[in-house]
Amino acid sequence: MKNVLITGASRGIGAACALLFGKAGYRVFVNYNKSEKQAYEVCEKIKSAGGEAYAVQADVTDLTAVRRAVSLCKYHGGGLDVLVNNAGIDFYGTFEETTPEIWDSVIKTNLTGVYNAVYAALPELKETRGKIINVSSVWGVFGGSCEAAYSASKAGVIGLTKALSKELGLSGVTVNCVAPGYIDTEMNARFDEKTVADIIDRTPLSRTGTPEDVAEAVLWLASDKAPFFTGTVLNVDGGFM
Ligand code: NDP
Repeated sequence: MKNVLITGASRGIGAACALLFGKAGYRVFVNYNKSEKQAYEVCEKIKSAGGEAYAVQADVTDLTAVRRAVSLCKYHGGGLDVLVNNAGIDFYGTFEETTPEIWDSVIKTNLTGVYNAVYAALPELKETRGKIINVSSVWGVFGGSCEAAYSASKAGVIGLTKALSKELGLSGVTVNCVAPGYIDTEMNARFDEKTVADIIDRTPLSRTGTPEDVAEAVLWLASDKAPFFTGTVLNVDGGFM
């Protein structure tokens, strides 16, 4: 049985990834920071479908906590085959409203969080010639107005993905990322109907994305069906970009 650690898997895209990997036969380590109840519910769903899952608390900004989470994967699963770096936060506001505290918190969660998880998990992933899949965003590719910190953090994730893919190629570890467009999750709950309608208008497939749309792409990148992919940015955006 392969092991996958998914950061920020208590809800939204991460939870959809956890359920899909569980159905695909992976032992799933469901990382959460604050949403303990939801993380345990995700685990229960996986278990009731016949799978194996563990809820693992860790704030991705805290390297010591992330190291503990990776140790748990080793303890319960014997190693780690796939790391999905999904945990993230958003800040919507003008650049002037982006205080140093907000800037730090977005970069620390979305970019340093990925660094922390890779840093902690790399020895295990080298053992298994494993896969890293990072969750970036369309804003990381072309930048979003009033999302400077978020766009910078997600562009950083793309840079990190590409650089690491080159460095880790010989170790057999692949590093890819997905760049989702607008996906229906709590992160986007603040958008009004008109804004969502505008986004749908600009999307060739004429709808918003679902967490499952992204999860399918992540599972595919982690699977044996994508053996020759590394350093790739896969847009999951209905053609938005
Ligand atoms: P949600 O807000 O629904 O979920 C965010 C998840 O991240 C939660 O499980 C939360 O855990 C976790 N998280 C946040 N901070 C931390 C932390 N410090 N340590 C550990 N976990 C943390 O967001 P989405 O599902 O929408 O987003 C998931 C990823 O996809 C993010 O990286 C986001 O930037 C990206 N994305 C989303 C898009 C969208 O349209 N929704 C589009 C493009 C990219 P907890 O609740 O336990 O704190």
